[in-house]
Amino acid sequence: MQRLREELRQLHDKPADFTPPEIKARELEAQTAAEEKAKVRKKAIMVVDLNKLIEQLSARGFTLTYNCSHCGAPLRIDGKTKVDTVKVCPNCGSGIEAIDLAKFIESYLS
Ligand SMILES: [Zn+2]
Repeated sequence: MQRLREELRQLHDKPADFTPPEIKARELEAQTAAEEKAKVRKKAIMVVDLNKLIEQLSARGFTLTYNCSHCGAPLRIDGKTKVDTVKVCPNCGSGIEAIDLAKFIESYLS
C-alpha cells in the first residue's frame, strides 16, 4: 500500500508538459518525415535550377568543360546538355552533385 501511494505521488509529480515516450517517438517520426520531404523538395529545386542554368548557357552560346570531381574527366556542358546526362560521370560512373555543377555554371554566367 505504501509503495502504491508512492508511485501515485510520483505520477502526480510529473511535469505538465510530460510526453509519454510512445508519443515522443511518433513526433520524432513525423519530424524526420518532414525533414526528408524538405530534402527531396530541395533536390527538385536544384534540378530546375540546373535546367535554367543550361538554358542560360544556350542563350549565351557558352560551352563549358566541367571536370569530374572524382576522376577529373572533362564533361562538356552546353545549351544542348540534358540534366539527366550529367548526373553520372561517363568515365568513372561517379555521381555528379547537381549543386557543384550548378555553382560551376553560375560562376561563368555571373
Ligand atoms: Zn569521373
